[in-house]
Amino acid sequence: MIIFKTKNELQEYLHVQRSQNKKIGFVPTMGALHDGHISLIINAKKDEMLTVCSIFVNPAQFNDKDDFDKYPSTLGADIALLDMAGCAILYLPSVNEIYPNGVENAISYGFGKLETVLEGAKRLGHFNGVGKVVGILLETIMPDALYMGNKDYQQCLIVKDLCRQMNLSERIRFVFCPTSREADGLAMSSRNRRLTEPQRAIAGIIYQCLISIQSKYSSGGNFAIVQKECLDLLRAKGFEVDYISLSDANTLEELAQYDPNKKMIALIAAKIGNVRLIDNMMVNE
Ligand code: AMP
Repeated sequence: MIIFKTKNELQEYLHVQRSQNKKIGFVPTMGALHDGHISLIINAKKDEMLTVCSIFVNPAQFNDKDDFDKYPSTLGADIALLDMAGCAILYLPSVNEIYPNGVENAISYGFGKLETVLEGAKRLGHFNGVGKVVGILLETIMPDALYMGNKDYQQCLIVKDLCRQMNLSERIRFVFCPTSREADGLAMSSRNRRLTEPQRAIAGIIYQCLISIQSKYSSGGNFAIVQKECLDLLRAKGFEVDYISLSDANTLEELAQYDPNKKMIALIAAKIGNVRLIDNMMVNE
């Protein structure tokens, strides 16, 4: 694997690869890699892409300084994992390389209602920061395909809209990959490393709640009732719940009740101790 720290060197290299008809598959990450990230690399490799992974902890998308300061960094292990997975290129830029004129002067995109609900409501400015960094990374790399995880479902919709605004929708193929989970269903996340042993032991409950919401739909149940049951259960186990939402999977408009005429997604965000976890599940495929 080749590691580039500057945009110019990376672009020069990609230019040569493109002239040899290589297709570029891009996997943006913030590092502290786990099998979920690696599944994106594997998907890109399956599609015979020259795989570029970026690791950049983007200060612009953290509204909580403590979360940014505590974001895990495991670069040595990340490089070993990427190497093993057969990733061709790692882009490892500094903050100055990404934002040479400062974060506040980077191009800012608006996402309308999509950035004001769910994660957007709880993490003010988060998607504005995501838009800034992904816009810069896409302009730098100009991939043929972009691999992202459904675990961050709202982020997938935001980035799709970003590509529309950048007139890249025709050029870049989106590959949204399934969520990789631990044996108890807990969605893999870099933040899981910060869970204490007792917190980790109960963290799989979020997945159980999503399964309940999905299965209550199949058995003709009432969403408001299952939502309350999940809220009570999570609170009883010590979670501070940000939301348990049933939403339209295309627009993320919140639904009060199951609606078979819509593609629905259930989304949960909850904090245990000072670790905030998110997960989601399609209710009707
Ligand atoms: P992050 O490093 O958390 O910014 O994530 C980088 C990419 O990996 C994003 O597209 C995430 O959605 C994706 N990702 C994170 N966790 C998982 C997971 N458990 N399964 C699949 N993809 C994931």
